[in-house]
Amino acid sequence: MRTLHQFHGGIHPPSHKAQSTRAPIATAPMPSKLVIPFRQHAGEAAKPVVQAGERVLKGQLIGKPEGFVSSAVHAPTSGTIVSIDMQPVAHPSGLPDMCATLLPDGRDEWVARQPLEYRDCSAVELRQLLRMSGIVGLGGAVFPSDIKLRLSRQKIRTLILNAAECEPYITCDDMLMRERAAEIVQGAEMLRFMLEAKEVLIGIEDNKSEAIAMMQQAVTAAGLPLEVIRIPTLYPGGSAKQLIRTLTGLEVPSGKLPTDIGVQCFNVGTTYAAWRAIAHGEPLISRVVTVTGNVRRPQNYEALLGTPIEELVALSEALPDTDRHIMGGPMMGFALPSLSVPLVKASNCIIAGSPALFPPPPPPLSCIRCTRCAQVCPADLQPQDLYWFAQSREFGKAQAFSLFDCIECGACSYVCPSHIPLVQYFRFAKSEIRAREQDKLAADKARQRHEFREFRIEQEKREKAEKLAAREKAALAAKAASAAPATVPAPDDAHAKIQQAVERARLQAAAVVPKNTENLTPAQQTEIAEIEISRARLREQAKSEVEHSKE
Ligand code: SF4
Ligand code: SF4
Repeated sequence: MRTLHQFHGGIHPPSHKAQSTRAPIATAPMPSKLVIPFRQHAGEAAKPVVQAGERVLKGQLIGKPEGFVSSAVHAPTSGTIVSIDMQPVAHPSGLPDMCATLLPDGRDEWVARQPLEYRDCSAVELRQLLRMSGIVGLGGAVFPSDIKLRLSRQKIRTLILNAAECEPYITCDDMLMRERAAEIVQGAEMLRFMLEAKEVLIGIEDNKSEAIAMMQQAVTAAGLPLEVIRIPTLYPGGSAKQLIRTLTGLEVPSGKLPTDIGVQCFNVGTTYAAWRAIAHGEPLISRVVTVTGNVRRPQNYEALLGTPIEELVALSEALPDTDRHIMGGPMMGFALPSLSVPLVKASNCIIAGSPALFPPPPPPLSCIRCTRCAQVCPADLQPQDLYWFAQSREFGKAQAFSLFDCIECGACSYVCPSHIPLVQYFRFAKSEIRAREQDKLAADKARQRHEFREFRIEQEKREKAEKLAAREKAALAAKAASAAPATVPAPDDAHAKIQQAVERARLQAAAVVPKNTENLTPAQQTEIAEIEISRARLREQAKSEVEHSKE
């Protein structure tokens, strides 16, 4: 029998879970259209790989992962992509995001699927398959699963399957375990294989007796050494750090991850989806979602991602006084901006609200320093101090009091007798700090860019000046070279050369024997004689000039 450990604080809000667990999971009918956001996961949005007007098959890739933290998106059924544009999505901001709108053709025709035996694949191949199958955390965090399955330097000793589902109203994991326990167990063993973990612990809150029984039965039938552990029903016992503490006694230090202490956690819904992706070749195109609250028939549905929430809620028939719809649980969920937004991978629960179900809170009063908030805080914080710092905008002090360890569970707000919306203050303070850090980062970047530009300009100036100086120096040297007197032979040399040339000419003339001077007429002989006299005169003249230049 495993020893369980207690985490600090926690509360017992009414669970409201019985309503939606009376009927089995129903398959939601094909909706009139599907609006599929390309960002359904933490990280970068997937990049569209289809165009408007294109026919697609069920399970066909329509958005490929972009960047390290990203995941693929697929067509949930066969049909035609009619548009790729900005549409309202399930987000507290109400801002639109890029979506593909798909008109189903009713044939529900699958793309070719390739089931695999995971033991024949390497962990690297399996991770890539999970990334391309769009598998992300279905507990609400939607972090890409392939990244959580990377082997880190810190070996993973314990794999924890998170089946606590501690938020009121939500029952999708409970029903999944009741109906598909065998596949979850196979998926858990596959994840253990990938992480090379030594042990697998499946933590289920003790208010889910049927799920515990079904999971225990599946583990026994599979003959696997997985431990199904019944944990106390206490909110927020399903939060990762609290569950790790309960099951192992280990504390995840502030600012660290479970992997830093050799533990990794996966939600049961994620485990099931990962198994379907590998063993059946099915990408993540649907999920189980609880529709409950102010409705006639609370129930869990297996619905295609992209189904308009209004069509889903209509299946359970919202009652006339419904005034809002919450996605997630009443503690950590948020009110949907519109009912036309689509179901996404993070949608574990839709609660129809009414004034009777969620009465407006009384106006907040002053803090009376009763410390009840500190007593229930699972992160061991002092919410009354954090509230004071947030209110007075002393964000540095709030940070110093570990504001970022707050998991926004809402337990403090739940017990506060002064009805102070503490979580809202903490969210505000966190967003302000993040915004300031962003501004500081942007300012630092701008300053660095400016400094680099100044440096570059100075460097260019310096290089130009150096080049100019070098050119001027070269020009001066060239000028100096051209101004220097040309090398002339010394007078003695000149005289000697001329003498040599004259002597050479004389010898050449003496050696010449004219061939056409025979049989000359007396007139010709007279003419030649005159020429010879003229030449002799010229030679004498040249000779006297040389003599003169020598003097
Ligand atoms: S519970 Fe409310 S009133 Fe009491 S200390 Fe905390 S913030 Fe103040
Ligand atoms: S919301 Fe934050 S401060 Fe309040 S109880 Fe939860 S963890 Fe503690």
